[in-house]
Amino acid sequence: MFHDIIFIGGGFRTVSFLLADYRLLELDLCIVERIGHLGPGKFKDLDCLSNSNASTFLRHLDHNSRIANKTLIKKMAVKHSPVSLTVIGRMLEIFGKEIKTQLPPGSVVTGHEVLSVDLRPADRYPVKVVLSDGNHINAKFCILGTGQSELLMHELLPWKEKVLLSGQVLSASYRPQLLEKLKQNRSTRIVIVGCSHSAFACAKLLCDIIGKSENPHFYSIEILHRRKVHIYYPSVDEARIHQDLKYEEEASAQFICEESGEVFRDSGIKYEAKAMYRSIYSGKHDFIKMHPIENLYSCSTIFDGSNLIIQATGLKSILPPLSLDGRIINEANDTSKLLADICGILSHESANINGLIAQLRVMALPDICKDRKIYNKGLYNNLRDLLLTKFHSNAR
Ligand SMILES: Cc1cc2nc3c(=O)[nH]c(=O)nc-3n(C[C@H](O)[C@H](O)[C@H](O)COP(=O)(O)OP(=O)(O)OC[C@H]3O[C@@H](n4cnc5c(N)ncnc54)[C@H](O)[C@@H]3O)c2cc1C
Repeated sequence: MFHDIIFIGGGFRTVSFLLADYRLLELDLCIVERIGHLGPGKFKDLDCLSNSNASTFLRHLDHNSRIANKTLIKKMAVKHSPVSLTVIGRMLEIFGKEIKTQLPPGSVVTGHEVLSVDLRPADRYPVKVVLSDGNHINAKFCILGTGQSELLMHELLPWKEKVLLSGQVLSASYRPQLLEKLKQNRSTRIVIVGCSHSAFACAKLLCDIIGKSENPHFYSIEILHRRKVHIYYPSVDEARIHQDLKYEEEASAQFICEESGEVFRDSGIKYEAKAMYRSIYSGKHDFIKMHPIENLYSCSTIFDGSNLIIQATGLKSILPPLSLDGRIINEANDTSKLLADICGILSHESANINGLIAQLRVMALPDICKDRKIYNKGLYNNLRDLLLTKFHSNAR
């Protein structure tokens, strides 16, 4: 198969990008998605509220497309509050189906993983994508929409039998097993590692479960955090009034967005998770406490004595192997040598791959941009303009 553009991964980013301008769906493109359908990606199974105004992207749907007029979507688009991630997942599934019906047959390949991406700049179709069924697809340009995942930390390997990743704890389909695990012991000592949005979302969920149990006093939860907690504030003034520096990171210049004045704009916890943090901190739940630590190696006694360890330390991008003329450029999934520009186009420190491959917020934000600068602002528009300029003359 030969296409102008190939998208790898058909989750939230790919689908929301494609629906933000109906002209993109007129391009000669192909999408490969590992699971059976386009759209929901990770959102489908995450049973918690978003840490952001997650419906914002709905306002950017192209109103020339039929989908933007659906009642549920119109209703969600005006919400200015967090949204259930499973509801977002359901909407994304509708969007995925819509994209599939608008593209020519065979353009959406689901149920197949991309095993590798080979770039050969001298070829007419310089991108070769190898699929898990042994077939391959050739394209002129490749866009990575493969998302980010949680990986078990090596510090927790000795206790791996009792570690759950935060995504598992928050997963709706895993809930019966989680409840069973919580019932197994007469007294359950739970350790949450990390102080991200997911850590507090897990704490909230466990609190709700424990609150409803017959013997809440059988449970204890300890949140181990290596860094201070990043709490979102709309302005520095608000931060100065409400911050407690015993647990919270101070609102210093590096954490204040130059454009909006918000504090911890990206990394800060908001809404329900922020409320959970506040209630723990104010001592509302006597069975949960926060415990600042130096590093995880010093916590072996705590891990030995716990029944359940929840890892909530963030996400990492796992890209398929990328090679340039046969040489792998992301050895052992090391993406540190890859840089994205404002269109998402990737360049490599020492290999000339410019112009062939782009990413849709797959890579973690560089620390220099996090919180301080609106990173990749306009990414979708910039990438859209680039694709339309390059490929629209070939459009169907
Ligand atoms: C516990 C937890 C809580 C979260 N909370 C929030 C939140 O509150 N707000 C928020 O915005 N985000 C949250 N996220 C992150 C959320 O997962 C992402 O924001 C969102 O899913 C990003 O969309 P995406 O398209 O980049 O990735 P995904 O939704 O993960 O989509 C990527 C798609 O690519 C596919 N794929 C990957 N590799 C391949 C391959 N090699 N071949 C073919 N297909 C492939 C996957 O199957 C998947 O469908 C949370 C994540 C976790 C784990």
